[in-house]
Amino acid sequence: MKTRDTLEERIYNFSSGPAALPLSVLEKVREELLNFQNTGMSVMEISHRSKHFEGVLDRAEGGLRRLLGISDDYAVLFLSGGARLQFSMIPMNLYAKGKPVDVINTGIWTQAAIMELERLTEYRLAASLEKENFKRLPRLEEIDLSPNASYVYIASNNTIYGTQWHEFPDTGAVPLVADMTSDILSRRIDISKFGLVFASAQKNLGPAGVTVVIIRKDLAEKAKDTIGTTLQYRTHIKHRSLYNTPPVFPIYVAALVTEWTEAQGGMAALEIRNEEKAKRLYEAIDVNDFYYSPIEKADRSVMNVVFRIRGDREDLEKQFVGEALKAGLGGLEGHRSIGGLRASIYNAQTLEGVNALIGFMKEFASRNG
Ligand SMILES: *Cc1c(COP(=O)(O)O)cnc(C)c1O
Repeated sequence: MKTRDTLEERIYNFSSGPAALPLSVLEKVREELLNFQNTGMSVMEISHRSKHFEGVLDRAEGGLRRLLGISDDYAVLFLSGGARLQFSMIPMNLYAKGKPVDVINTGIWTQAAIMELERLTEYRLAASLEKENFKRLPRLEEIDLSPNASYVYIASNNTIYGTQWHEFPDTGAVPLVADMTSDILSRRIDISKFGLVFASAQKNLGPAGVTVVIIRKDLAEKAKDTIGTTLQYRTHIKHRSLYNTPPVFPIYVAALVTEWTEAQGGMAALEIRNEEKAKRLYEAIDVNDFYYSPIEKADRSVMNVVFRIRGDREDLEKQFVGEALKAGLGGLEGHRSIGGLRASIYNAQTLEGVNALIGFMKEFASRNG
């Protein structure tokens, strides 16, 4: 294994977000940076209302629609404000008085969404795994849904704890709303089962700065006129994400990422590759007594692989992160709130990168075990 003091080469980036982008996408950005499509300008310098930028929006939206099979009943929006703005915008637009939101609390990102629900609406906890430190998801029979809810709220992948829904709750006529920030475009998904899906881009979709919102159009009509114009989904539907100046550069890169994803064979191919990467990594953790995964097997995330060194040896975990970086493997520290180790293996992470990590893990364990 090579070691280095400075990182003049690109590393295998396991960071949870902003996260690795496909190399060929970065190369394309570089190639087009100074002169975008013979405009004599970069994509950041052209009008967002020009036909060239409309073309970019078409590519980003079209790519997402094809990859996820999104029907015309849904709008695809490109908004600013991050996933966190959605924690406010969703209740502002979809909550109806007297119909508490049903929330399934599976970690810090649903808790952050709950903080906003507390300010804006009534809500119920349909299930919460807080007592078990979010080490698993609720089983479907543990979820207590109300037929009177405005909507049901979940996070499809819990970036920090490393759990992921592999089967979604059936919410009947009540719209299901999902924060898919850390697993959008990682697997096949039936959008028609959801009322609204959103994802800020910096995990699996592009650079930070744009949030994709996929919303069933009829739900966008429910918002009261008393909320600000820019906070209403219907404004952005009407203006095709061009009401305010959208984050043009992140949208452009997201368009390239969707094209890269299609070139990889689309969601079915990516899903197989992502599962293979996760399987190898979890196996490497499970077979080695030096490491363990705190997450219940059935709920383990294919995107964020959380693990620890047995005995919760923070000293060794710190050493692991430092030595891994010197070996060209970056971003392996767990989230600051829970510690431990985490390898985020989004679409842009290669099997080669995962194998390099597994090799390092074995070698580190044999030196320190
Ligand atoms: C990273 C993350 C967020 C926060 O996204 P911002 O764009 O910083 O607001 C929200 N939800 C999930 C699941 C995340 O992984």
